[in-house]
Amino acid sequence: MINLKTPEEIALMREAGRIAARVLQELEQALAVGVTTAHLDKLAEKLIRSLGGEPAFLGYQNFPASICTSINNEVVHGIPGLRRLQEGDIISIDVGVRFKGYYGDAAATFGVGAISAEARRLIQVTRASLERGIQAMQVGGYLSDISHAVQSFVEEHNFSVVRQYVGHGIGSQMHEEPQVPNFGRPGRGPLLQPGIALAIEPMVNAGHYEVKVLEDRWTVVTKDGSLSAHFEHTVALGEEGPEILTVL
Ligand code: MG
Repeated sequence: MINLKTPEEIALMREAGRIAARVLQELEQALAVGVTTAHLDKLAEKLIRSLGGEPAFLGYQNFPASICTSINNEVVHGIPGLRRLQEGDIISIDVGVRFKGYYGDAAATFGVGAISAEARRLIQVTRASLERGIQAMQVGGYLSDISHAVQSFVEEHNFSVVRQYVGHGIGSQMHEEPQVPNFGRPGRGPLLQPGIALAIEPMVNAGHYEVKVLEDRWTVVTKDGSLSAHFEHTVALGEEGPEILTVL
């Protein structure tokens, strides 16, 4: 069942989303060769709490950190630790914030120093595929219109969308119905109505779409070792169209 949000609920999600966006902005500024992902995690936790939020990922299914940091061939759910960023790395940072019982969830991929032309193109295409997905979230449309918009854009650019992990409804729970795949034919699934709130999050691989989970039981990597990027916004549908909540 899809839980439609009231304007009051959306207002709280806007606050949670603003904090998540602020964290991504600050972490981007902190990226540098030699910085550990654990340092980024500590910065994120401090900032979230100082802005009146709580880190939603910390302790979620026993996840040990406030953000996910996924580097290069890592797709999502990387655990911050002692790994130091290197020149040419790309890092996907995913952050979840709870504010007064409501959630915001956002992710972005950044380059560290000078990155390869392929990495740059992957990041651009993944970011643009999220924009396409958001534009496809319209009253009277169907959920899979979003999925189709993301997939078709990514494949036009000869990259692939991950199948095994998907976006999700969001609100007073971080993960609510419906699932939001980044692939599929348009015109299917639930009708999009005002009050629906979704975390739309394309995960895009430079190579094949297949992924596997490492022995730490969290980190998802590409099976073929290719680079992967991830962008995510929490978006609410209003009468006039989609509103991105994870913005400053
Ligand atoms: Mg999410």
